[in-house]
Amino acid sequence: MMDILQMRRVRFLYNSYFLVSQPPPFAFKPAESLLHHHAASAYPGIVLSDSPGHCAKYGSYSLIEDRINKVLDLQLVQSSEVPSSSWCEIEGLKRSVRFLKDQDLQLSAITDRQVAKWVREELCPEGTRHFFDIWNIGKSVQKALDATAKERGCEDLKLWRPAIINHLYWTAASTPNSDPNVMEAKWCSMVNHVQDIHEHGGTAFPHCAHPPLEGEAREKEWLEPGSTAAFNLEGIAMRGALVKDIRQLSPQHQTYSLEAFHSLILHFAPKHTSFSYVGMYSRLLLAALHFNANGDRLMARTSHGEPRYAVRYPWFRKGGWVIRPIKENPTYVDFK
Ligand SMILES: [Zn+2]
Repeated sequence: MMDILQMRRVRFLYNSYFLVSQPPPFAFKPAESLLHHHAASAYPGIVLSDSPGHCAKYGSYSLIEDRINKVLDLQLVQSSEVPSSSWCEIEGLKRSVRFLKDQDLQLSAITDRQVAKWVREELCPEGTRHFFDIWNIGKSVQKALDATAKERGCEDLKLWRPAIINHLYWTAASTPNSDPNVMEAKWCSMVNHVQDIHEHGGTAFPHCAHPPLEGEAREKEWLEPGSTAAFNLEGIAMRGALVKDIRQLSPQHQTYSLEAFHSLILHFAPKHTSFSYVGMYSRLLLAALHFNANGDRLMARTSHGEPRYAVRYPWFRKGGWVIRPIKENPTYVDFK
């Protein structure tokens, strides 16, 4: 016979299940004007998709139209709805894609590698172009460089790390037609460049794009050709899987806006606090409303009309700095 403690436990589980299995009493609906803007574009809309990490209970998925910097769709998937919490991301993506198809919207997807297989197999045959987000690839290159720079004879790789990551961004940004052969050649030329070799042969990118190096520009810690550092750098940069990803880099649109949105989500729903499903979903909606109302704020200006910038030290730069424009103060009233 069930004792009182067991009964309480069963009731608790039942209530939990009942509560979380309820559909939310409201849903995120982007303004018609946003969808029209997306649909009226001359080429298929660029939709960025990513998940701000998942916890054991939920995984959220966001789609942002990068050209207008607005959230188009939000999904919150409970781990109880899928085989395990690691499936939340792909399930969220599937639901978002269903939403886009219902609106007759085409998409180019920029994702991280987690959902690449599904996008390649399910969406690409229907005409979706799939790109990889540079930020995620840069993160893995950075990690590999940091690990190798700790080995004896490879210390100089630490000095070259920021330039190598910049070169990764340049590889994509300087190839607006996203020609995979050119992107691969540009990326691989870096291994020569750091050894003070600037002619690379081939036709895709035969020599470096910079002018001849003279004076101070020559004063660099070039890697000795054939040295351990040069050999190991080649091993990192020319790894088959990485080169394959480089060929698919997103040339223009990045997931910066998603990263900004994810920071905003943490503002509305801090990670250290646990929320019910409806509570979490409500907070996501608030974050999306706030983002869409404030995403296109103008730059703040000084009293003389000069645009204002700030120096920031993002954690992923590991002590490095970036210049960011300062925006006007956000509104908390004018939600659209
Ligand atoms: Zn060069």
